[in-house]
Amino acid sequence: MVSSVKGTFDLFYPDIKKYLLMEECARKIFSLYGFSEIRTPILEHTELFSRSVGDETDIVKKEMYTFLDKKGRSLTLRPENTAPVIRAIIEHKLYESPRHSRLYYIGPQFRYERPQKGRYRQFHQIGIEIINDPFPLIDFEGILIAKELLNSLGILEVEVKINSVGCKKCRQNFISILKDYLNKFKGDLCSDCNERIERNTLRVLDCKVASCQKVIENSPVIIDYICDECKEHFSKVTQFLNDFEIPFKITPRLVRGLDYYTKTVFEMTSFKLGSQDAIVGGGRYDGLISSLGGPDIPSFGWALGMERLSLLMEDSPLNDNLLYLAWMGEECLKFAMECASYLRSKGVEVVLEGSLRSLKNSLKRAERFQANYSLIIGEDEVKSELLTLKNMRNGEQIALKLNEIPNFILNGE
Ligand code: AMP
Repeated sequence: MVSSVKGTFDLFYPDIKKYLLMEECARKIFSLYGFSEIRTPILEHTELFSRSVGDETDIVKKEMYTFLDKKGRSLTLRPENTAPVIRAIIEHKLYESPRHSRLYYIGPQFRYERPQKGRYRQFHQIGIEIINDPFPLIDFEGILIAKELLNSLGILEVEVKINSVGCKKCRQNFISILKDYLNKFKGDLCSDCNERIERNTLRVLDCKVASCQKVIENSPVIIDYICDECKEHFSKVTQFLNDFEIPFKITPRLVRGLDYYTKTVFEMTSFKLGSQDAIVGGGRYDGLISSLGGPDIPSFGWALGMERLSLLMEDSPLNDNLLYLAWMGEECLKFAMECASYLRSKGVEVVLEGSLRSLKNSLKRAERFQANYSLIIGEDEVKSELLTLKNMRNGEQIALKLNEIPNFILNGE
């Protein structure tokens, strides 16, 4: 037997239902905010990620699925979707079209990470990008949309953590201050962080190693060093959040693992998820489009991890309405087929199987299908046109005319 690749998984019933529900809710909410979908290829030139995500980030240094194709070109399975979306925006000059300034994506991403609960090598993200709007309203709305999506899926207990990482100018100043501070504690920092001091200084603040955490606890915080423009931007975003009563926590050492962020960064976490507690992560990246060869226009976006969301949705009810159609003899089959066709046309999900079974075996089969209902059609039912509908959850039976069944199943009437 050939098994699936480590860190990847197959998705099927009932989990796939959650994914479909997430996608449905996301599409509904995004369209209310004027977004349209973009689908970019899973394969991109490696350079796209080294230039945008950053050569010194963990993603580019250690986690990418990179290979040479038959012509010796270096290609990478996308580890995230922002860079591909921005590439598409530049390539098709979509930045000239306001209709394309609000895009969303849903799809698989690939990172060679150590698999654990909530962390996989192929995982799936839902994300948005808002192009060419520098104003704090966008940062606020971006966060609001993520919150609405989670709420619509019944996930209410999430913490919104927010920070500003400043702009290119003021961040540079802070990085040198942080470097000076960290250099004093080199002996207490893990070997990864020792490397990060020079190459990816901010990322040290993200380290979970206990001895590093001790050093980080007393480190200078970026918010004390950002310029006036960045300060004002941040205070407007937090003011909107307050005005619209979205609870948030300013988290002065929140940075994100990717290089391209500027000003607002945020994360949504759930204490129910254990160590991999981030469900949504994102922020503003005003320099990304120009760094990839496009015009100097700002953007904002976030990505949500569908696997983590699916873990939180574990107990949500699956709104199935599957009906198993049990037919009791060759003479009933044509009528059963007509019933199935009618019920499907009214939106009821119907399974009709080819093998003739006894009533007892049909009901067993309905149970194994995890059907909510079974509909029993025998000679008597064909004659009387009153069909027996059995609720497989509580065993109750009711006699209904065919045209009464859809309303009964779909609306409980
Ligand atoms: P990032 O692209 O790293 O900002 O991640 C955004 C979100 O994607 C995170 O908050 C997680 O929910 C999810 N995510 C990132 N990496 C993984 C992974 N390896 N496995 C599962 N989910 C992930």
